[in-house]
Amino acid sequence: MRSQLSQHNLLLMVWVMPTRDDIELLVHARNTLIGKAQRELVAVFSAVERKDPRVVRNVLLEAVPVLVRKYGDGAAAAAADWYLQMRAKDVPGAVDFPIVLGDPVPDGVVRDNVRYAAKFLFGGDPAMTVGALHGAIGRHVKYAEMSTLWQLGVKDTVTVRYALVPRPPMTCSWCSFLSSRGWVYTSEAKGLASQHSNCDCSVVPSWDAEKAHIDGYDPEADHRRYKRARASVPAQGVGETSDEFTARVLRQAREMFPDDYTDGKMRQRREFTSDGSIDLNVWRRKRQDRAREAKRGHYGHEALARRIPPSRPDAVPSSWSDDLPELSAKAWNHILYGFDGRGGHLPGYEWVNGGTPFPVDWTKHDIVEAAEAVLRHPELVVEDDVTGRLTFTRVVNGFKVLVGASKQSTGKMKVLTCFCPQR
Ligand SMILES: [Zn+2]
Ligand SMILES: [Zn+2]
Repeated sequence: MRSQLSQHNLLLMVWVMPTRDDIELLVHARNTLIGKAQRELVAVFSAVERKDPRVVRNVLLEAVPVLVRKYGDGAAAAAADWYLQMRAKDVPGAVDFPIVLGDPVPDGVVRDNVRYAAKFLFGGDPAMTVGALHGAIGRHVKYAEMSTLWQLGVKDTVTVRYALVPRPPMTCSWCSFLSSRGWVYTSEAKGLASQHSNCDCSVVPSWDAEKAHIDGYDPEADHRRYKRARASVPAQGVGETSDEFTARVLRQAREMFPDDYTDGKMRQRREFTSDGSIDLNVWRRKRQDRAREAKRGHYGHEALARRIPPSRPDAVPSSWSDDLPELSAKAWNHILYGFDGRGGHLPGYEWVNGGTPFPVDWTKHDIVEAAEAVLRHPELVVEDDVTGRLTFTRVVNGFKVLVGASKQSTGKMKVLTCFCPQR
């Protein structure tokens, strides 16, 4: 597991700033400002949305650049504070250079965004207008933060290197490519920062890049994937450093490593678990959704403790014998990781559906043994007259465990779920 490996590494390495927790603070400050700016946009929009589209557009042409400036200034100030705090932990002595803020995005660029977004007003789709402006506001507020981090690096009297650091557990193939280069970016390389909407990666400075280590950031693994994809893409007449070539390589990477990117490609040929109960493309898509959800609105340890399912569903444990009610891969994975909006009782996975987790030290082996014990020697069996479903319960190792099952048309019972109620 990556997190365990990282912890192991920490023991061997000198502590160098910033840490993952530091980055989470930056992300949180940024997203708070973006959220406020976006809510203010909605307020402006709601006040005029029933008017003629031309009027709405003109109001937005005035208001959006002001919003971007106001919240961008906030993000720039927060970024400067953060930069100096990080630097103080790594570089001894006083700051001996002028504190500057980055240049904001020019108003003209913002107005172009508004004109583009306003097209949807004339097409009768105001939600698209708001969506496009939310994206633009997010990008521009974040740009103010990034440009401040770069500008301070230009003034800094100690050499700074930057990396693009995604948030765990996963990011898109493009951000992964930029982040795979590690701590190579200098203050002059501004254009290299990711600038797509909803990107939650951070441009992170380091004053000791050789020793920099951030929990959950593994540029070598990202780079290995990129190199393997690149090796299987012929240059076909385009320069190897061209955007066109990079785009081709990333398309290939999304196909070769569908489970490593939030935009990993679904497989064309449909595949199922050996019992046919789970379509692997469905599993893959849900897992990508989880990876995005895990990062939404939560910061620090709370976000990092949110686990996402493995890239492949777990096989049903071989110890599950035929004389027990049938346990499908779908039911087993529902119990552990959650599926179809329910379940997810293995500790670390309960966040998605709000289910009750098994005791924190229970392994999958403990869970399957508990399920068997409940079914073989239940203390209580309740049948629902309406649904015909059966609920078996007993106390296992001090915890009440419930198994839900139903009768199939063949007469054989099948397991639906298993969890610890009311813990
Ligand atoms: Zn991205
Ligand atoms: Zn990103």
